[in-house]
Amino acid sequence: LGAARLGRPQRAASISAEPHRPELLSVSNLGRSFGTTRPVLDNVSFSIGKGEILGLVGESGSGKSTIGRLIAGLDRPDAGMISFQGKIYAQPGPTGLRIAPDLRAAIQVVFQDPYASLNPRRRIEAILADPFIIYGESDKAVLRERVRHLVNDMELPADILQRYPSELSGGQRQRIAIARAIALKPSLIVADEPVSALDITTQAKILALLGRLRDRLGVSFLFISHDLGVVSELCDRVIVLEKGHIVESGPTGRVFDRPEHAYTRQLIASIP
Ligand code: ADP
Ligand code: MG
Repeated sequence: LGAARLGRPQRAASISAEPHRPELLSVSNLGRSFGTTRPVLDNVSFSIGKGEILGLVGESGSGKSTIGRLIAGLDRPDAGMISFQGKIYAQPGPTGLRIAPDLRAAIQVVFQDPYASLNPRRRIEAILADPFIIYGESDKAVLRERVRHLVNDMELPADILQRYPSELSGGQRQRIAIARAIALKPSLIVADEPVSALDITTQAKILALLGRLRDRLGVSFLFISHDLGVVSELCDRVIVLEKGHIVESGPTGRVFDRPEHAYTRQLIASIP
């Protein structure tokens, strides 16, 4: 099924979520509930352009991570659909079905705590060799060279390769998680609060790194954060989520300078 056949979801002009770049991913009328409480997500629609950094902001509990999990294929929606380059890959249906293998590489996730995704018993060199092995490389010397290059690219020292995740700083661990994601040549990285556990200086360095990766590789980001300061620095566009609803979206400068919704104004006012 192509996006053209399905048509675009209708949206009010004032909350238009259209990117200025060619569309990579489209989220249409997404809904998700857990049990009998009110829906965690209700009728959420937006799209992400190629090479775009889209910020997703909202208070804790507003449903940001749930959107990230649905896009990454880690959860399934109760309503609506998600399509990647015009092809639907997430919609309501029987549980158990997961994201197709080609999309699994194309859409990578970086979490707040890299401990959650880095095997503590493996050295960094082995962790970073995995993506190249997945892509069919088996020559030990070539693998070593690729990994060395990747680590250098992430502005990490080569001696980090023989260490274990626990022997790295938080910022270094996050760079390793980003490096592993990038090595899988993704089109989209869902970054769920990727700098929220880091100190301010390290945050700035990681944000600069993400910006450079977008510029150099054209990779898109869904950048999830409760920290509006961080979002204003990095993102091209922002969508604002309140209790599972998108209340506002637009270019970052416009949303921060002239917020249209009371909830957005309240979020901006609470920036320290
Ligand atoms: P955010 O990332 O914005 O803080 P989340 O998406 O993590 O918000 O959670 C949104 C709401 O959905 C919260 O109230 C949370 O308790 C609920 N929720 C998320 N996942 C589950 C789940 N698997 N089961 C039950 N409730 C959940
Ligand atoms: Mg979250």
